[in-house]
Amino acid sequence: MHEVSIAQGLLDIVIENCRKQGYSGIESIKVKIGKAAGVVPDALLFAFESMKVDTIAEKATLIIDQVPISGFCNGCKSNFTVDDAYVICCPHCNSFSIRVDTGRELNVDEMEVV
Ligand SMILES: [Zn+2]
Repeated sequence: MHEVSIAQGLLDIVIENCRKQGYSGIESIKVKIGKAAGVVPDALLFAFESMKVDTIAEKATLIIDQVPISGFCNGCKSNFTVDDAYVICCPHCNSFSIRVDTGRELNVDEMEVV
């Protein structure tokens, strides 16, 4: 359950930002999570819901935006996007010479404050 520590990390970031800027509450938090980041969205939501209680993010909704894995293949010189959590070779030509550009992100994209 490393989603618990991720949820804690997210809460720490948004609460600190909120305090620094003088806001009193958080309405929603939008996070971008790559499919290859190894995070289970439901588990993260569950952890967040239980941990936000008694913080200034108590009323906040966590919105998870899943980013697919995409990259470029050096074998067939084309871009690819896959819907799985892992990519080891190019879906077009099966070359292992690939560069992965997205899919590993785990960051706060937006937050709405009051
Ligand atoms: Zn290829």
